Amino acid sequence: MDPRRRIPSTHIVLADPRLTEASQRLGETLVKRAVDSALLSARIGELAPEQVVDAAVARLPARATGLAPVVNATGVLVHTNLGRAPLSDAAVDAIVAASGTVDVELDLTTGLRSRRGRGATTALTSAVPSAAAVHIVNNNAAALCLIATALAQGKDIIVSKGELVEIGDGFRLPDLLASTGAQLREVGTTNRTTVTDYEAALHDDTAFILKVHPSNFRIAGFTSEASVSELAELGPPVVVDIGSGLLTHEPLLPDEPDATSTLRAGAALVTASGDKLLGGPQAGLILGSEDLVERLRTHPMARAMRVDKLTLAGLEATLSGPKTPIAQCLHADPEVLRTRAAAIADAVDGAVVETEAVVGGGGAPGLTLPSFAVAIDAAFAQTLRTGNPAVLGRIRDKQLLLDLRTMAPSHDSLVVGAIQRARTACM
Ligand SMILES: *Cc1c(COP(=O)(O)O)cnc(C)c1O
Repeated sequence: MDPRRRIPSTHIVLADPRLTEASQRLGETLVKRAVDSALLSARIGELAPEQVVDAAVARLPARATGLAPVVNATGVLVHTNLGRAPLSDAAVDAIVAASGTVDVELDLTTGLRSRRGRGATTALTSAVPSAAAVHIVNNNAAALCLIATALAQGKDIIVSKGELVEIGDGFRLPDLLASTGAQLREVGTTNRTTVTDYEAALHDDTAFILKVHPSNFRIAGFTSEASVSELAELGPPVVVDIGSGLLTHEPLLPDEPDATSTLRAGAALVTASGDKLLGGPQAGLILGSEDLVERLRTHPMARAMRVDKLTLAGLEATLSGPKTPIAQCLHADPEVLRTRAAAIADAVDGAVVETEAVVGGGGAPGLTLPSFAVAIDAAFAQTLRTGNPAVLGRIRDKQLLLDLRTMAPSHDSLVVGAIQRARTACM
């Protein structure tokens, strides 16, 4: 008899209690997909008919999303390909709490409608008292888009040639700004732009002066740029894209601009990302003068850039909660990193090596942070990258380096387990 005739039917397989439970948890589509895949393997002779149910259970996805958690052992703090900042437990908790029905636009005391997201905006103004008003949008690109649309449509934005940057993945700031119908007046040169260059470009149709922080590259050598305080003297509002979202000065990152200092220097508006050095969810922060922020908030386009309740909850908890994972990684003591690396290396027969970690696309280009990594054979890279959880390191001299600077202490045991499993799988 052809053994394939003993292959169970789909509905018999689906009746297994483990799969009916999974249907409740993951939904029928994903469970059916795992069952179909196991049945197909049986039909082509890869599985015995008796193994189909167990194989279907083994092929169930862990959750109803293809997004897989990754341990960031790359040594790049803010890694865009890994979703930038990991959130604090407080932010995760706030997001879970907000995921049901919440009072995002309702005052429960009066029963009346209230301004959306006041918790997050209050937390942001408390964190940056120099900002008279704030507005929150989807990301920093949206913040710039809204500002250009509301303030500069058909008018001029004066910007230095040295600051016409590409953010990444092909997105260029000048294209983004021009797409709003604003006119870019480029002044100065790639390496040097003076206040006089800006001054010469001023005219009646100047909407604002834009300064963009070069957050992912550095120009060194014969360079000069006009400061925010010098530009603020010229008359038109100065809008500053500080990029990484530092709210106050961070001594470890001396060249990274922050919202408080930039506003104090005379910026009318500051924009930043929520998910870089600030350590929160993806968001665009706009801080500055009351009347300009009000014009942005009430512009029709603002609605298309409105953040959802989950972002508002996560951002508020990031701003008023405990130290973020990004801040903890940034401030980690190298000696502690060495001790952690040594413990992991001991457990998995690896070596401890000295490394340099970086902030990444999120800011502080050229700056390195002293760190330590566990070095193992690069042959394990693929297995670790595709494991559960995935572990991502970097390869140097045929070795896979797992950098402790970007790993949370709770990841150490996960990484030890992942390497031990990878070893067993390779034997
Ligand atoms: C990252 C960055 C952006 C883009 O921010 P998003 O939040 O990703 O839209 C814009 N400007 C600067 C200077 C940046 O560093």
